Amino acid sequence: MNAASLFRERYGTEPTGLWAAPGRVNLIGEHTDYNEGFVLPFALPQRTVAAVGPAPAGEWTVCSTLEEGTISFGATTPGEVTSWAAYVAGVVWALQDAGFEAPGARIALASEVPVGSGLSSSAALESSVLTALIDLGGLDLAIERRPALAQRAENVYVGAPTGIMDQSASIRCLAGRALFLDCRSYEVKQIPFDLAAEGLAILVINSNAPHQHVDGEYGARRKSCEEAAHILGVPALRDVPPDGLAAALDKLDDEVMRRRVRHVVTEDQRVLDTVALLEQGRVRAIGPLLTASHASMRDDFEITVPQVDVAVEAALSAGAYGARMTGGGFGGCVLALIDADRADVTTEAVEQAYGKSGFTAPTCWIATPGAGAARL
Ligand code: ADP
Ligand code: MG
Repeated sequence: MNAASLFRERYGTEPTGLWAAPGRVNLIGEHTDYNEGFVLPFALPQRTVAAVGPAPAGEWTVCSTLEEGTISFGATTPGEVTSWAAYVAGVVWALQDAGFEAPGARIALASEVPVGSGLSSSAALESSVLTALIDLGGLDLAIERRPALAQRAENVYVGAPTGIMDQSASIRCLAGRALFLDCRSYEVKQIPFDLAAEGLAILVINSNAPHQHVDGEYGARRKSCEEAAHILGVPALRDVPPDGLAAALDKLDDEVMRRRVRHVVTEDQRVLDTVALLEQGRVRAIGPLLTASHASMRDDFEITVPQVDVAVEAALSAGAYGARMTGGGFGGCVLALIDADRADVTTEAVEQAYGKSGFTAPTCWIATPGAGAARL
């Protein structure tokens, strides 16, 4: 069911309008965001659509195609709304906390973004609701400020310690572009990423691997990076330059911490190298950087699982220019840069490899870089 139909069904009236915000895949730059480094996501064509209509001031009601019934709340503080609706209550709270008058609203949500697959359905939800409330309330909130506000909803209200990438991608991406984001300054640059013109495509392979221990492992990686930065006497690992890596590693006794640092420092450089190649129009040439990123996540950051390693290997064996896991890790999706006419062959190769390994079948599709949050 789409968002407008859900709105009519649950609220018995027409919505004022529809707002959509996309999920994203990160082309390269994993676990670099909270190290104040670089990321390069692009928006998916799959979006979360919010059908929204007015409600009395200070009253919000939400529903979703994925959930029964409706949930209503007034002005709340973090912790008061605890179900999935916390993502919406968090956006309302973050707006109010920043001094904006969030308009009362009835909201119906329908997501085309697979939930919990590392494609950021959470940011798509937050960004669609945030954009709707800003438009309906006539709020003067510059686009540059919006991602941090949506991030606060997720970090502080929902309590998920994520970086700024997901919300930035969902709000600021443009069709046919990848978003180069400096996670320290929040400066962005739109990078040409017209795959079709080059006869190329990005195949996304959802590993469908069960997510396990994700929160704990994420927290452990983050802590390790922060401790390393502290020992090295820098504000964040972003401040360790590639030619200072060897010296930095010499200062660290812990072998695990050394590997974590090596991933972050080399990954930042791979993002910069990818951006440089794309700006020169050399899209195929980014393949080895993608594959090197995967090896770094597998061996140094240790966030991959057999399902994603097998998908990467199978895609490369089928002729992909490069392939890597995308997203926080421990499952989720792999992306492969392939010739556009090799999508079926690559998909079959991955499916066969999964069959041989006894894994649950993957889901594969082509991702074209889509647009950021907007009113439809
Ligand atoms: P991801 O962002 O990778 O999809 P998260 O765990 O960050 O995974 O966010 C998924 C959560 O976001 C869901 O468990 C649910 O609480 C919420 N969510 C996302 N989209 C919807 C939706 N359309 N309807 C209801 N809840 C949603
Ligand atoms: Mg998320």
